[in-house]
Amino acid sequence: MLTGSCLCRAVRYRIDGAIDHVSHCHCGQCRKAHGAAFGSYGHVRPAEFRWESGADAVASYRASAHATRTFCRHCGSTLQWIPAAHAEYFALALGTLDDDPGARPERHIFVGSKAPWFTITDELPQFATYPGADPA
Ligand SMILES: [Zn+2]
Ligand SMILES: [Zn+2]
Repeated sequence: MLTGSCLCRAVRYRIDGAIDHVSHCHCGQCRKAHGAAFGSYGHVRPAEFRWESGADAVASYRASAHATRTFCRHCGSTLQWIPAAHAEYFALALGTLDDDPGARPERHIFVGSKAPWFTITDELPQFATYPGADPA
């Protein structure tokens, strides 16, 4: 079991399952949502996830045609990126975890829109957009 929470701890969640496909996302939306160079996300299966407290404090924002983002309405912590076209997973903002998920970052995505002031210094694979979407 993994647990997590927002900054003000009004929102708490638990995951009875694994987190996988951990990515650092450099898209402009993640940069703004996190106020950081990139956002770190891992895939979670909705059936294995539940709000332990503060579900009524979880606000959502339709960020694009492709996804809804959720955040704590009190402290603003980014929580989820929920794809419109896939019900089998959502991406969890890993910075909200209170436990070690075991999984480690596998890749950098949307490097094509990376902040000019940040330099990637690790050896992880980089994708201009999303794996499978980039030109070969
Ligand atoms: Zn909060
Ligand atoms: Zn992103």
